[in-house]
Amino acid sequence: MDNQPPVVCSNCHQNIRPSDYFCFNCGKNLHPLPLSISFGRQIYIYLGSIFLPPMGFIWGIRYLRQNDTKSKIVGATAIILTFLIFYLAYIYTVQFFDAVKSQLNTQLPDVYGL
Ligand SMILES: [Zn+2]
Repeated sequence: MDNQPPVVCSNCHQNIRPSDYFCFNCGKNLHPLPLSISFGRQIYIYLGSIFLPPMGFIWGIRYLRQNDTKSKIVGATAIILTFLIFYLAYIYTVQFFDAVKSQLNTQLPDVYGL
């Protein structure tokens, strides 16, 4: 399931350990550092998804592109939260305009003496 990490540096062909993040010989970034999925970071992402809606998509996609399942779950949760917030905002807006419309419909005839 996981991508097999290279055992030889693609830049200088020095033997490297699969667990290395940087080539000890030339300093090449062998695979980008995994994104943090600490509890605090997750809370930050979920709150951000709720209160800064477009950010949830950006973080979500970034975490979905990670190789480990836990990161993918964090990413999927952020995207689902963002969708939920957009949906709730949509419902709320529709209800608000319906309320305004029905208010107008009941009050306008009074104003115009109809
Ligand atoms: Zn190297």
